[in-house]
Amino acid sequence: MHHPAPRHPRLDPLADRYAARTHGMKTSEIRALFSVVSRPEVVSLAGGMPAVTALPLDAVGSMIGELVSGMGAQTLQYGSGQGDPRLRERICDVMALEGITDASPSEVVVTVGSQQGLDLVTRVFVDPGDVVLAEGPSYVGALGVFQAAEARVKHVPMDDDGLIPEALEQALIECRAAGDRVKFLYTVPNYHNPAGVTLSEPRRQAVVEIAERYDLLVIEDNPYGLLGFDREPMRALRARDDRRVIYLGSFSKTFSPGLRVGWVLAPLAVREKLVLATEAQVLCPPSLTQYAVARYLDTQPWREQVKHFVELYRERRDATLESLEALMPPGTTWTRPDGGFYVWLKLPHGLDAKLMQPRAVNAHVAYVPGIGFYADGSGREFMRLSYCYPEPDQIREGVRRLARVIEAELDLHSTFDGVDTGTFRAVSGTQPGIVGPANSDRYEDRA
Ligand code: PMP
Repeated sequence: MHHPAPRHPRLDPLADRYAARTHGMKTSEIRALFSVVSRPEVVSLAGGMPAVTALPLDAVGSMIGELVSGMGAQTLQYGSGQGDPRLRERICDVMALEGITDASPSEVVVTVGSQQGLDLVTRVFVDPGDVVLAEGPSYVGALGVFQAAEARVKHVPMDDDGLIPEALEQALIECRAAGDRVKFLYTVPNYHNPAGVTLSEPRRQAVVEIAERYDLLVIEDNPYGLLGFDREPMRALRARDDRRVIYLGSFSKTFSPGLRVGWVLAPLAVREKLVLATEAQVLCPPSLTQYAVARYLDTQPWREQVKHFVELYRERRDATLESLEALMPPGTTWTRPDGGFYVWLKLPHGLDAKLMQPRAVNAHVAYVPGIGFYADGSGREFMRLSYCYPEPDQIREGVRRLARVIEAELDLHSTFDGVDTGTFRAVSGTQPGIVGPANSDRYEDRA
């Protein structure tokens, strides 16, 4: 059936009725790029898609088929709001690998990916105007949740060892002085998205001590913790403090993102609120995918599979770092991740990753501009490169193209030196701060 498009899409007749919280919602920098990066000629260093083709697809396929025929109607029925008890037990075994040995299945809530966990935790704790502390930069999907809840995000700087504890303390002191209600610190301690760095051991201790001293709640978001290249998993923050740390986990990176299974580990009183919130949202997490994950953990060599993923990502990380080293013009710097999916790259002085993006897409390479990872519009000189999905040869080609674009940009920049930034922006053809479908359509026209 043909559905006529609205004649005046800009004149939205419901515009004055939307809830105030929708004003904070915007298209993520990553989604805006989707139509571009799926084209075969473009090397995408943009999306953070796990390499699911490395899974034993036949074995997983028959396992899921046998679930329905073997377990029957149960797999197709509603389940508990808190999630399948068997799966929650297995989740506790998984968390023990990161030093969380005292977790009880009763403290676990199964969620539709850790993304839903983030949303639930935010619903339970954040009122409009509350402050959320988050690393600068921060995971774009978390910023989207905080903005939708009308939280005010205050960024805490990081360096190669992760979040800087002194800066965290400083932020807390400033918030106290300003009378702000700080609801929690949101942190990704392992192989940070997008920064690629890991919170060092001494800093873990320092963050937990600050949390204790300032009575600060910490949301520890840890989807990448088992994906370290060179070492055993580090001890989680939650393993050091079971009262002030709420832990978010996910099977998206260790198994499959398409199944959408994650979890929250929280003290019982909080767990109760999370279950009420999830029941209001989705009644219960999907039964079939929970059984699939539980069966996978029970019957498949999943830890060997994680090792296999790690080897594959290590090879891609190496290809990325070697190419950057060989090809990037002076003045470009980047982080050196020892796990996970991401490199955070800083452009030479004066360049702007967002303005440069259309030219990169023309040169058939995609990345995510840094501004998407800040709530305050900063980060223009940064970009995130993901090495998880392309093959090493594609990565090398992508970095080669990117290096050429940056070099051309440097030439252009020196030509325009002295011209005010307004003119420089006009030359690039994008407007600062505008993200979303309008821009992505334009990239499509050009590339
Ligand atoms: N947190 C972080 C830091 C992530 O990188 C992601 C996925 N990119 C998520 C949460 C959400 O993952 P999922 O919902 O698939 O578990």
